[in-house]
Amino acid sequence: MINVAIDGPAGAGKSTIAKAAAKKLNFIYVDTGALYRAVAYNAVKCGAINSEPKIIEMLKNIHIELKYNNGVQAVYLNGEDVSAYIRTPEISMGASKVSAIPEVRAFLLDLQRDIAKNNNVIMDGRDIATVVLPNADVKIFLFASPECRAERRYKELVEKGESVTFEEVLADVNKRDYQDSHREIAPLKPCKTSIMADTSDKSLEESVNYIISLIEENIR
Ligand code: C5P
Repeated sequence: MINVAIDGPAGAGKSTIAKAAAKKLNFIYVDTGALYRAVAYNAVKCGAINSEPKIIEMLKNIHIELKYNNGVQAVYLNGEDVSAYIRTPEISMGASKVSAIPEVRAFLLDLQRDIAKNNNVIMDGRDIATVVLPNADVKIFLFASPECRAERRYKELVEKGESVTFEEVLADVNKRDYQDSHREIAPLKPCKTSIMADTSDKSLEESVNYIISLIEENIR
């Protein structure tokens, strides 16, 4: 099986780029952020989000699955498709919070590895090259300046009808970057063998083509 790891901060274009590349190469695109978001969604729903012990306890009662329909990923929480509820700013922040808990990361690890064992995948996340798939065939660390990333995320949220300001989104991006890169466990950082790809000055189309060519060069 061919495994491609794409890591990087929120808003660097990982999901759009990884999705497009997976389609072109006929690989499965695995969005691992959705797993942390599903855990956060459940924690918010049951009032556990502000208590680490409660979140850990809650893990005993949840079952998370990823399913693919025509290459589109859906995340199931205890049998319910929750994909539509996990993209709000509240759940983004919650996901960043739960992802710093070692028990949560351990809980989601085998699920991610099993998918990669049985499929050609492009897996996007924060610790895919460093922890989840250290033997991935291609490892890419995708990044862009915080302002560029906030601008992109702001546009996405406005298109979805969320009422947010650019400043709020930028503050969230900076806060999430800080949380993700300063946590003790699996912090967001490039792996020594990752290819560093800066998308700040590239359009989405340019970034997609660039990443696809990097992958193609490295899996031949
Ligand atoms: O990629 P996305 O923005 O959906 O991820 C949500 C949050 O989940 C991130 O801010 C990060 O804290 C966490 N995450 C992680 N490891 C991954 C994927 C996501 O810690 N592999």
